[in-house]
Amino acid sequence: MRAHTFAGFVVLLLSALPLGLAQAEASFEACVAQLQERAKAEGFSEQLVATLGQVNEIKRTIELDRNQPEFVQTFAGYFNQRVTDYRIERGRALLDENRELLKQLTQTYGIPGHYLVAFWGLESNYGSYIGKMPILDSLATLACDPRRSQFFAGELMLALQVMATHQVPVEAMQGSWAGAMGQTQFMPSAFVNYGVDGDGDQKVDLWSSQADALTSGANYLNHLGWQRERRWGREVRLPMDFPYHLAGINNRQPLNYWADLGVLTADGATLPGTGIRPAIEAALLVPNGSDGPKFLVYDNFDVIMKWNRSQFYALAVGHLADRINGAGRLRTPPPEDTPLTKDDIVFLQSELQRLGFYSGKLDGQPGPQTRQAIREYQKSRQLVADGYADGELLKQLGAP
Ligand code: CA
Repeated sequence: MRAHTFAGFVVLLLSALPLGLAQAEASFEACVAQLQERAKAEGFSEQLVATLGQVNEIKRTIELDRNQPEFVQTFAGYFNQRVTDYRIERGRALLDENRELLKQLTQTYGIPGHYLVAFWGLESNYGSYIGKMPILDSLATLACDPRRSQFFAGELMLALQVMATHQVPVEAMQGSWAGAMGQTQFMPSAFVNYGVDGDGDQKVDLWSSQADALTSGANYLNHLGWQRERRWGREVRLPMDFPYHLAGINNRQPLNYWADLGVLTADGATLPGTGIRPAIEAALLVPNGSDGPKFLVYDNFDVIMKWNRSQFYALAVGHLADRINGAGRLRTPPPEDTPLTKDDIVFLQSELQRLGFYSGKLDGQPGPQTRQAIREYQKSRQLVADGYADGELLKQLGAP
């Protein structure tokens, strides 16, 4: 009896594996057939609907989508990898080479050239890294994966629209594993809604036309609400006894408020713009804690974060733009800290929760809510309330 059961189990096991794979393939095919139905209903040509039927599932895309790095990226790690001497020098040369076009774009869309070049540098290293994944395959894979299927199915339809409107053959639809395309790494929705022909050939080609890419970037930033004649923010200097608990993206205050607290430019000068009415509002960011660089960020910083929802990204774009425009290094370079692991952050979040400072998810991400909880904890213990998670804070919270 036992032998029989065991043998039965082995047979079951052997048949289960290939069956599972076959089922996964069948369900991808069924999903693609549904997407084809949708494309047909949305009025795409038979030829495009047939092209959509040729997509392949890319396992790597799912792996990358699920990828949870073990360590939490430090600001110094992120920033120093992106704002490099090469990017600054190349950016300055490209600002010069494209001066006429950029001047026109500033007039039309209100975005200064050095910002456009900075986005271009961060998104694709000035067009030299635009991704080689087949976009329809990537988007179909993500559309058929349950995690964010609705969003990616919508992007897939818009990718078909890019092909139809701008006569892009399927082989040319290449980009990142998550569907971002060209020198500005636009998702299909941004491509369709904000892509502009900059070189006059009546098509938008974000892959090989620099003029199309820069013009589309300017148009996109304009639609996101970029304020003309305003900066993104600036590095600042704080007095010794500064109340750090006031830092954080959600505490927006008029420039005068910060000036009254003794905030100066990084060079020690009075903050420019305090006399402007209506008042410029700013938030204070200390991404490396009280030992690192401090920044006041203005409304255009939020515009950058609508392009990419990461404070590190927005700080890197802002500083790279300044450097391309001729500014010097940060007065306080970000110190290289030992990165914490996701598990460290989960420990920290659960301790802060136990102590009544945190009610968010135990997700291992030191996001704004976690940083706020840290600030409140630090304040209650008379520590420097900079909201910064590091090894010292872990020790204070009793980490082994
Ligand atoms: Ca064009």
